[in-house]
Amino acid sequence: MPKAKEITSRSENYSQWYNDIVLKAELADHAPVRGCMVIRPNGFAIWEKLSSELDRRIKATGVAGRKHRNAYFPLFIPESYLAREAEHVEGFVPECAVVTHGGGKELEEKLYIRPTSETVMYEMYSKWISSYRDLPLLLNQWANVVRWELRPRLFLRTTEFLWQEGHTAHETHEEAIEEALMILRDVYVDTVESVMAIPVLRGKKTPSQRFPGALDTYCIEALMQDGKALQMGTTHDLGQNFARAFNVRYQDRKGKMQYVWQTSWGVSTRLIGALIMAHSDDSGLVLPPKLAPIQVVIVPIYKSDEQKQKVLEVATKLEKEILETGVSVELDLREEFKPGYKFYDWEMRGVPLRIEIGPRDIEAGQVTFAHRDSGEKTQAPLAAAAQKAAETLTDIQKGLFEKAKKFLDEHSCETDDYEELKKITDESGGFVWAPWCGNQECEQRIQDETKATVRLVPFDAPQTNAKCIACPEAASMRVPFAKAY
Ligand SMILES: [Zn+2]
Repeated sequence: MPKAKEITSRSENYSQWYNDIVLKAELADHAPVRGCMVIRPNGFAIWEKLSSELDRRIKATGVAGRKHRNAYFPLFIPESYLAREAEHVEGFVPECAVVTHGGGKELEEKLYIRPTSETVMYEMYSKWISSYRDLPLLLNQWANVVRWELRPRLFLRTTEFLWQEGHTAHETHEEAIEEALMILRDVYVDTVESVMAIPVLRGKKTPSQRFPGALDTYCIEALMQDGKALQMGTTHDLGQNFARAFNVRYQDRKGKMQYVWQTSWGVSTRLIGALIMAHSDDSGLVLPPKLAPIQVVIVPIYKSDEQKQKVLEVATKLEKEILETGVSVELDLREEFKPGYKFYDWEMRGVPLRIEIGPRDIEAGQVTFAHRDSGEKTQAPLAAAAQKAAETLTDIQKGLFEKAKKFLDEHSCETDDYEELKKITDESGGFVWAPWCGNQECEQRIQDETKATVRLVPFDAPQTNAKCIACPEAASMRVPFAKAY
């Protein structure tokens, strides 16, 4: 018999544990080009579910009576486009891949593989927008982008990754800000918390952490099981910086020419990395039911042929009943594996609910539920098993969020003492809420000395009378410091 695949435990080596899950649950594999990733069917099925949840929310939202729509822009960006917005070019060019030859000849102008699409999209926006009647323009694209990665990690940092990038243009700054905040709240927070079952902090990036070329960057941050923070998504108030660089102007309601106000926003396949790290355990992947490609697996247990016939008859009937409730289910009919191996296999792959059916269960008129999140086993009456399975999935979804929320709360603390901040971020990790004067020098010093950064300035930052944790200045608020991915 094949042996169940074993993985490194979290306490032994967290980063090896993560890699083991990605590889052994067959979510992704290393590609021939270093830093690139092959997303295997198990991983891609999760991305398909996650991206469709995001896409549905993106299309359902909008501002000024219009909704977002999807479009597609080219992979190549002429060098001159990238150069037009100074901060943007400085921020991105060092990590770009560049095409110098095409059709066997050296190109007259180098082409950059998009690291993000502001420049190529806004060149088109300047053609398409001429009047206030053309606004707001609310576009999103699903695409791959390339940012050369020197320290790659599967899903978390890959040279090529998949994402969505929204790019909008508005008549007023207020409307652009409304858009950026609405996407953060109604698309990103909602998807991450209610679908991925991961609680997040929300707020603004500090000026040093802003997107190159933006006036403000809003973001959400989550906590992973090793106590490190992970940025889950960002939305940017671009002001008129790109509009000036790309001459995106419109005639306003009084007939005067004005630059548009813009936003951009994106989340990527990095979210899959967060999903793995937030919920999984030493037996493998743990998936929230809303993202599990297979939500329920039925494992039939039998020894004799006579038992087999009876068990499969009951199992097939239950499979149909579960399908009818709208839950995705797989009946594991593999003859070459024993039930014990199948249990490990489905646990590794993160299927939220396993139903075991054996001859004794059938005699007792019941089935056994094995809950992936808690490891708990419960019995359900056979006649009501399908309905009970659907209810159990709802409970697991809720339970995973609550567990992650509890972890977040238990790994959040306050301190006014710099040495203690150092100690906590070094040892247990988590968010350490400390008073900060808002000065970039203090932020930088803390980062240099502790490797912890101000993850964000929360929208509802707690007020404080304490002094800044790094200088004698008064601090007006507390912000969360953490080491981060
Ligand atoms: Zn300070």
